[in-house]
Amino acid sequence: MSETIFDKILSGEIPSTKVYEDDDIYAFRDINPAAPVHVLVIPKLKITGFKDLKGLSESEIGKFIKGVSKVAGELGLDNDGYRIVFNQGKHGQQTVDYIHAHIIGGRQLTWPPG
Ligand code: AMP
Repeated sequence: MSETIFDKILSGEIPSTKVYEDDDIYAFRDINPAAPVHVLVIPKLKITGFKDLKGLSESEIGKFIKGVSKVAGELGLDNDGYRIVFNQGKHGQQTVDYIHAHIIGGRQLTWPPG
């Protein structure tokens, strides 16, 4: 699995604005925010994308998804809501091959996405 920019963020080689970290996940602000709040959450155990979720145990998946929920709550988004996005592959416009959940909120979002 080749090293991605998110591997380098996790190791500290590339700086990021951390919003939360525990033993299982790391959350940081997106460098090109699509909304007033735009945070990326990655599991510390790397898989390349949503299609490879089978590479994590159910416990690891649970910790990741629960972590995303926790981070969104700590960002103050629970009351007004937010969107979670996993981009997968070419059609999904995934640009970084390290699974990441986008937490997007802080304004009224529209549907459907483009
Ligand atoms: P995706 O298109 O789903 O792969 O999303 C990758 C996201 O990573 C994009 O929203 C980028 O703006 C974001 N991104 C790329 N480089 C950095 C970085 N150095 N720090 C924070 N976010 C980044």
